[in-house]
Amino acid sequence: MIQSTMMDFPLTLNYLLDRAVQLFPRAEIVSRLPDRTLHRYTYVDFYQRARKLAESLQKAGLTRGDRVATLMWNHYAHLEAYFGIPAAGGVTHTLNLRLHPQDIAYIAKHAGDRFLIVDDILLPLVREVLAGVQFERIFVVSLTGEYPPNEFESYEDLLATATGHFDYPDLAENEAAAMCYTSGTTGRPKGVVYSHRAMVLHSFATSLADTFAFSQRDVVTPVVPMFHANGWGVPYSALMVGAKQVFPGPYLDPENLLDLFEKEQVTFAAGVPTIWLGIAQLLERQPQRFKLQSIRMAVGGAAVPEGLIRTFDHFNLQLIHAWGMTETTPTAAVSRLKRHMDTLPEDERYHIRAKQGVAVPFVEMRAVNEEEVILWDGKKMGELQVRGPWITGSYYGEEALQKNFTTDGWFRTGDVVTIDSEGYMKIVDRTKDLIKSGGEWISSVDLENALMDHPDVAEASVIGVAHPKWQERPIAAVVFKEGRQVSEEELRAHLTERFSKWWLPDAFVILAEIPRTSAGKFYKKALREQLQDWQWDE
Ligand code: ADP
Repeated sequence: MIQSTMMDFPLTLNYLLDRAVQLFPRAEIVSRLPDRTLHRYTYVDFYQRARKLAESLQKAGLTRGDRVATLMWNHYAHLEAYFGIPAAGGVTHTLNLRLHPQDIAYIAKHAGDRFLIVDDILLPLVREVLAGVQFERIFVVSLTGEYPPNEFESYEDLLATATGHFDYPDLAENEAAAMCYTSGTTGRPKGVVYSHRAMVLHSFATSLADTFAFSQRDVVTPVVPMFHANGWGVPYSALMVGAKQVFPGPYLDPENLLDLFEKEQVTFAAGVPTIWLGIAQLLERQPQRFKLQSIRMAVGGAAVPEGLIRTFDHFNLQLIHAWGMTETTPTAAVSRLKRHMDTLPEDERYHIRAKQGVAVPFVEMRAVNEEEVILWDGKKMGELQVRGPWITGSYYGEEALQKNFTTDGWFRTGDVVTIDSEGYMKIVDRTKDLIKSGGEWISSVDLENALMDHPDVAEASVIGVAHPKWQERPIAAVVFKEGRQVSEEELRAHLTERFSKWWLPDAFVILAEIPRTSAGKFYKKALREQLQDWQWDE
């Protein structure tokens, strides 16, 4: 063995902060405020404020590894917290503002958060959260321009305690930089702690041309909340490459988003399918209204219907399907066509783009069936297991959850998948959502995507409901596009083209809206509760 001659240079977020200001001082950060006006400043302003936050937190008594919670929408101050807290040796703990106050309190308590930084427009929520947890100090970001009420402190006053003389602590790359709890779609929230190293490597991997291709020439918008799996790492990668960043604040509706994309000339945006479904509908209704750049739109968090990729191609907007979890920082797989696939028939190309994709460099994937690693044949189903430098190896403070990890060092995702011979993984379902009918499995994901490909259907979600004879049978909840409606027979006929008869839902329930999780995904648990007393015909 011979030792390398390379320097020992830690991979920390502080490096990204310094590089950004040194090379891209003029890059802009634009945020939508509650009054819908746009707040804008440059990387220089951001850099100074993030470092002031670091210094003032240290003055306030923050020590290495202390958690500072954030309860915020996506905007400049959240970005300051993303970098300022770890710069001081602290850990940014993003709290999900869409959860029930009791759950937020549980999570903050479990994480042992010392301080809280919060948007002023969220103070009513904070007051409810405070019934279940105490923070040493609470700093309020004034997005409305109003000074915070007496019982709270002002974030600006905190920053004003900084002198501007601040040296980064000597951080090791494996120290914690951030933490996030899973949104609890399938169980109690579980905490994941991210290291500086994981965040930096994740930023590199997501910037690759075959992932999201981030460049300093980009204008990026994380529509995905910054409290949801690090805003998919977009703010970190954007800072690393020096891209302009545009934040939607509390306005995530199609009108406001498209207006922002147009005004700020956005070239990359990331969000869950429900966001893009809404945007596609508005574009279809008013195709001429918005003058957009060609935008790369990363979509993940739930499966994307193939028809949606086609719709956006029609508008010269490119949907890029990716897969990830809170536990995987989150980006772990992305579906891009390989060079030799350009000559495939169009339908096949869309099938591939609608899969969840191939693992990004340094993430390894396998599918396991009854403890056997299965072949990549695109047919056999197994549980997806992953490992890599930004995949969590445990949950914070939860020894009992070791069953989520295999003895040979892989993380068990709970997703059921196939992997084809080219390495493209396709999610069949979450283990808990697979429908078992007469001893055979039915994929709810395949059914709902096929339904959403019907021109009159806006949203669809399929669940298994207990059945006296078949164990479970699928029931589809469907939302029609505005002013449209089709019969149950037509929906069934539409599915008959693609699926065998026993896969077809036994009933279609027409809803005004599918219940959503805090991350904007369809919430099957709520749907199951709504339909639990379903009466089957004799
Ligand atoms: P939660 O489990 O609370 O929804 P996450 O946001 O971490 O929290 O969600 C991760 C899960 O989301 C994955 O295990 C998978 O089931 C689902 N998911 C993520 N990306 C995709 C995708 N592109 N297609 C289908 N499902 C996805």
